Amino acid sequence: MFDLLATTLSGDALTEPAGQTETLDWQWRGEGILELSPRQPCEAAVVISAGIHGNETAPVELLNQLVSELLSGQRQLRVRLLVLLGNPPSMRINKRFVDADMNRMFGGRHARYTPNDESRRAQELEQVMALFYRSAAAADTTQRYHYDLHTAIRGSQHVRFGLLPLQARPKSEAMLAWLDAAGLDALVHHRSPGGTFTHFSSDVFQADSCTLELGKALPFGSNDHTQFTGIRRALETLVSGEPLPIREAAAPLVHYRVVQDVIRSQEDFELFVPADALNFTAFSKGFVIAQESGKTYQVEADQEVVLFPNPNVALGLRAGLMLVKM
Ligand SMILES: [Zn+2]
Repeated sequence: MFDLLATTLSGDALTEPAGQTETLDWQWRGEGILELSPRQPCEAAVVISAGIHGNETAPVELLNQLVSELLSGQRQLRVRLLVLLGNPPSMRINKRFVDADMNRMFGGRHARYTPNDESRRAQELEQVMALFYRSAAAADTTQRYHYDLHTAIRGSQHVRFGLLPLQARPKSEAMLAWLDAAGLDALVHHRSPGGTFTHFSSDVFQADSCTLELGKALPFGSNDHTQFTGIRRALETLVSGEPLPIREAAAPLVHYRVVQDVIRSQEDFELFVPADALNFTAFSKGFVIAQESGKTYQVEADQEVVLFPNPNVALGLRAGLMLVKM
């Protein structure tokens, strides 16, 4: 049986783009895109993506391991499953992206870019996802999930956390229970729409979607997989329809909501969060977070914590988020 990651990195086409094992059918739908269907009816259609940022390798290795176990028959498949390795060209060079950040392009935003590898790939992933959820619906599969796996650029006060896209409908209890069981330390609730893959799947397909940040980015082969036991176990139970694992984290899950989206809209934008500040570092009321012509961002609540501070983003993009505990 082929290896998903090795085949994707090689750039070679599979000689046979579809096949079967004793219990499932698989289809190679494009570079790094694999659909797995059990032969028996099932209730859930699950998309698991990783490598949307090419240097975030640990989740890619984890997902590859899961696929190997399904293809070898070592693990049972009880959901319709679409596995996506997001950005193969950037994975090959161990870079976050080649031309531009793909996780700002979903929901059709790719059309605003001068066509490049990432904008074409974002469009392809949208189409593949649409086809997958539609064919699953035609087969009476009613629940939709999408988990997009990442690792963060900088260290974090909360090592493992999830980002929930803005949605009008309530967050699904089943998803929240699963995220808790996966051992996440924190969940961040967005307050505005964005170009992320999970915002797209939640908004367009009403999937229960979450972006998972699972530690720090390291090259292929250098990852400490003991850090990822909780999420690995949770993904196994998800695809195999097993009971949720017991949460292993010592402290309870903390919920945050976004109170400020810090956007770099002018050339003279300056960010005053120190370059080495960890994600979830707290700042007190009055602290000036960033400044540019015509706009000052400052902490308005008694305390706000920073997430993903990055002054080097393109104009019009987010240079950081400010959060408060819920
Ligand atoms: Zn990422």
